[in-house]
Amino acid sequence: MIFLYEPDLAGREREYLLDAFDSSWISSRGEYVDRFEAAIAQYTKSAHAAAVANGTAALHLSLHALNIGPGDEVIAPTFTYIASINAIVQTGATPVLVDSNEADWQASVDAIEAAITPRTRCIMPVHLYGGACDMARICELAARHGLYVVEDCAEALGTAVDGRHLGAFGHIGAFSFYGNKVITTGEGGAVVTQDPELHRRLVLLKGQGQDPTRRYWHVELGFNYRMTNLAAAIGLAQIERIDSILARKRQIAAMYRDILANFDLRFPTRADGVESSEWLVSLLVPKSRDRDQIMARMAADGVETRPAFFCAHEMPHYRHLPINAPIAESLARRGISLPSYPTLTQADIEKVTSSLLRAIGA
Ligand SMILES: *Cc1c(COP(=O)(O)O)cnc(C)c1O
Repeated sequence: MIFLYEPDLAGREREYLLDAFDSSWISSRGEYVDRFEAAIAQYTKSAHAAAVANGTAALHLSLHALNIGPGDEVIAPTFTYIASINAIVQTGATPVLVDSNEADWQASVDAIEAAITPRTRCIMPVHLYGGACDMARICELAARHGLYVVEDCAEALGTAVDGRHLGAFGHIGAFSFYGNKVITTGEGGAVVTQDPELHRRLVLLKGQGQDPTRRYWHVELGFNYRMTNLAAAIGLAQIERIDSILARKRQIAAMYRDILANFDLRFPTRADGVESSEWLVSLLVPKSRDRDQIMARMAADGVETRPAFFCAHEMPHYRHLPINAPIAESLARRGISLPSYPTLTQADIEKVTSSLLRAIGA
């Protein structure tokens, strides 16, 4: 069986993890947390980074730190992983869901602009599948309307636009280090920001709102969103190797695009200047084909695939949200992700592509 994802833990992950374990600093204090945070800040060229328990916590913490809550609206794409929208709802704010672009699968900036109301406080661009939203236009729009920008970069560690890393465009960038993300800490996440005051607040809030100079004195409502030193030890070893992990993921994506170039399969486009993390190589199957049947045929060949995300507004708890998003619905129905982990071999990729081509009857 070729799985969709397997983290590559072949560097110093085990060594650092055991070192953290042997040090007995196994909770959220310890040198690996500090070193991992410094490495994330440096890699994303951000002034500050704070490690947190997971990517969803990173998003919720970001919105809460910006005082977003009941009565506020946050604009986000409906075509995303559900955590983006859940984090908005967990603050008490209202998600305003918008459609996506057919070509690059990212949130439509025209739709974002049309969705702005006097209650809008924040835009949440989600950089899907390693691609990049149009941050120049989104930041311009946000500045013009006095809105915050919280970037969901869970799938985009390693994605840069004209050499500038995603997460450093908005007020806060949120990352995930789940097992199938570009790098992993098991479960984990991080928030990055350029603003020292905002960073101070993010750190306060992730640690129960405790006054940094007075133990057990809590100055406001906070959360336990801390990352463990054990997780950070794995993460530090991962980020030390991120260049080679990304190089291999990009090679794999290029091979898939090459082999599948002359068939009726559409990969998301990338704007000029975008260097993708190639998180999961994903494509659209022909409109005339049944995507789920293609996936079942590939599974029978021993190839695991994933459907694209369902739209958030299709979920039972979000069906009440008003939306018109025909493109997002079509992407969700036709999208498929292929095995994309860095240790895939050329033979694995050939097995995946021949299985896919057989399954679509090409
Ligand atoms: C993975 C992911 C998240 C959530 O990250 P977790 O670490 O699983 O909580 C949020 N948004 C997107 C787009 C993701 O892909």
